[in-house]
Amino acid sequence: MAIIGEQLARVQRRIALACEAGGRPVHSVTLLAVSKTFGADAVRSAFDAGARRFGENYVQEAVDKIEALAGLRESIEWHLIGPLQSNKAREAVELFDVIETVDRPKIAEALADAMAKSGRTPRLLVQVNTGAEPQKAGVAPEVADAFLANCRDRLGLKVEGLMCIPPADQQASPHFALLATIAGRNGLDVLSMGMSADFELGLQLGATHVRVGSAIFGQRARPGQVVRA
Ligand SMILES: *Cc1c(COP(=O)(O)O)cnc(C)c1O
Repeated sequence: MAIIGEQLARVQRRIALACEAGGRPVHSVTLLAVSKTFGADAVRSAFDAGARRFGENYVQEAVDKIEALAGLRESIEWHLIGPLQSNKAREAVELFDVIETVDRPKIAEALADAMAKSGRTPRLLVQVNTGAEPQKAGVAPEVADAFLANCRDRLGLKVEGLMCIPPADQQASPHFALLATIAGRNGLDVLSMGMSADFELGLQLGATHVRVGSAIFGQRARPGQVVRA
């Protein structure tokens, strides 16, 4: 597990270099260690090496890890970065500090309801399907402004920023640029964009959050696929 610490340090160095090249302070970047498919022991290793923010794709998988690491709960920020089903909204609100995948009116409504009932207010990002891929979650770019206004004005949700996952077979830069444009015109500060293969590019185009999995934890069991816990 020492390798996780080394790989984390390598990613942190690459972030620092990208910041230097872009003339931005390194503390303007939040690194999310994406721990999906890896166990609590791997999260613990990354934590011991200094990681404090973790991304998970599935509510159930996250429950198990967060419980196994309950002693670290106050020191870790957990982000949901996978699609949320409305029947899990309640649990997600209880569990996560940040939900990055608000992606349709039904989820926004379910989250607003769960937040009102529980009194917990995880921070929220809206996922934008910048590549308009039918199989991918996220609001379409052309309705993002209306969706954000609806979250704010009708549901009273405070959205902090946007997240995207560019199509796997395309250059990421136009997608990152589009996300930055939508965030800019909506006055949003947080841009979650960039993964192991392209986080430097994300940083160049204004990412405030990068979500890095395999470059820290190693290859997942089935590379490129999301594994259901
Ligand atoms: C898995 C995943 C990541 C991390 O991907 P890597 O290529 O392993 O860095 C980032 N964001 C989301 C939404 C993911 O599902």
